[in-house]
Amino acid sequence: MPAGRPAELDSNGKPVTKCLVNCTIPVKLRDFLAEHKINRSELFRTAALKMMELKICPYCYSHDINETPKGWRCGNSLDKYNKLEGVNNGTTNCGKWLKFKRCDLCEAIHTPTSGIHDVNGQIGCDQCPEVIKQKEDNKKINVAFGDVRTL
Ligand SMILES: [Zn+2]
Ligand SMILES: [Zn+2]
Repeated sequence: MPAGRPAELDSNGKPVTKCLVNCTIPVKLRDFLAEHKINRSELFRTAALKMMELKICPYCYSHDINETPKGWRCGNSLDKYNKLEGVNNGTTNCGKWLKFKRCDLCEAIHTPTSGIHDVNGQIGCDQCPEVIKQKEDNKKINVAFGDVRTL
């Protein structure tokens, strides 16, 4: 067992492969960082992830991020809650959501399990008054036709 800290694992449970990078910075900045005991590796990583937010996954470091109507997700977005076609899947990405958008119509924030619905050609969500009303109307129609299935 090699000495030192245990390997950092990514969100897939795989060790994060690391390397050394050299960068050139002003001497005074180096001195400042040293004086304030700021870990340069940590700082670089934090700054890079922040600047590249939604371009790289902070959980598994994949660059394969998909923007969908619900938000941004690492890798596979072909699940039943996310009806976007033609995006990459079958990757080893962790599939975590990085950020959710708000619904264009009702401003509700999307969630991992929220559905998206077509509302007169626009993308709405489960919380949209129009969608809720549509569901209610469908129930009424089914009742009128004697459909007793529970919805
Ligand atoms: Zn990821
Ligand atoms: Zn909505």
